[in-house]
Amino acid sequence: MAVETGRRPESIPRPARCADLRSDERGYPIITTVSQPPDRVDFGSISERRKLALAAFDLCAVCGHPFHDELRWQVAFEEQVLDMDPALHGEAPVHEVCGLYAAQICPFVSSPHARLGDQWRKGSRRPEKVLLAGYRRTGEVLGRASGLQTGHAVLHFDMGGLDRVHVLRNAEEARAAYERALTEEAPVVLDAQERRLVDLLVNLTRQEPAGEDSGGVMAGAAWMVGGAFCPGVRDVMTMQHYVDGPAYDTIAATVVAKPRMAARLAVESTDEATATAMDWLATRRSLPPVLQRWHAEGRRRVRTDRRSSRPSDTAVDIRKARRKSQAAARKKNRR
Ligand SMILES: [Zn+2]
Repeated sequence: MAVETGRRPESIPRPARCADLRSDERGYPIITTVSQPPDRVDFGSISERRKLALAAFDLCAVCGHPFHDELRWQVAFEEQVLDMDPALHGEAPVHEVCGLYAAQICPFVSSPHARLGDQWRKGSRRPEKVLLAGYRRTGEVLGRASGLQTGHAVLHFDMGGLDRVHVLRNAEEARAAYERALTEEAPVVLDAQERRLVDLLVNLTRQEPAGEDSGGVMAGAAWMVGGAFCPGVRDVMTMQHYVDGPAYDTIAATVVAKPRMAARLAVESTDEATATAMDWLATRRSLPPVLQRWHAEGRRRVRTDRRSSRPSDTAVDIRKARRKSQAAARKKNRR
């Protein structure tokens, strides 16, 4: 970010909700949206799979905790963004205190705009100031072409209801805004299911198979709770695994068509991420609006699949997936 503090990361107090984030060897906190296989962390690599999990479970891209009623903040470098409402952003939103913390900890790494950081390092002009825009809602999340990486689709977040703005012109302003937000930080109260989700995504409480990022595992779970019906998700890089996987689409179609199946899968699934995500889904009094939209789309596609002699693309995917998983089960039974 443009606001350079020159302070060592460990000398900056963390928001309470960021207490669980691991640090790298230099003391930089590893924010939730960055891909983090166990053996290495690449701060320049925002993970699309982690973004899908953040979108489905409605979590902050820095601390990984739910938004609940708090505003959702996006970093912007051009004031024109403030004239657009709704506005499409290429990164997942963050809590206010988390956005201001990210502005403190580093100009280039650990920020929700590490990709821009990469561009700056290549010599583009750095912006004069940083804007943080606080929105009341995430209206939609969808995969579409990236403005930064041509030829690739990434997840975009459509933010609406612009409510407040921080304009950070220099390090002093950024620090003052952060200190104020820290004093006012209210605790995020998690229920048991949210706690387990955050633990899986942030605390890395389980050992992943050879070099796998826990974010990837959670994205599989996010796909099955409804992410399969995120518009354009199939074109997003790194999602092919779920498009090709034998059961992801089938389970997603099952839980949107028969919501009570989530509780059953929570008990029956032997995969911890799936069981956790299904338990979360089964115990929500109301789903986050983005997931509600995906479920509505999923139900529509399932109905189309049942009615139509010319099934939709997803219906074809689901049938293919079902055949694949049945074939796998038969093979297993023969052994
Ligand atoms: Zn946060």
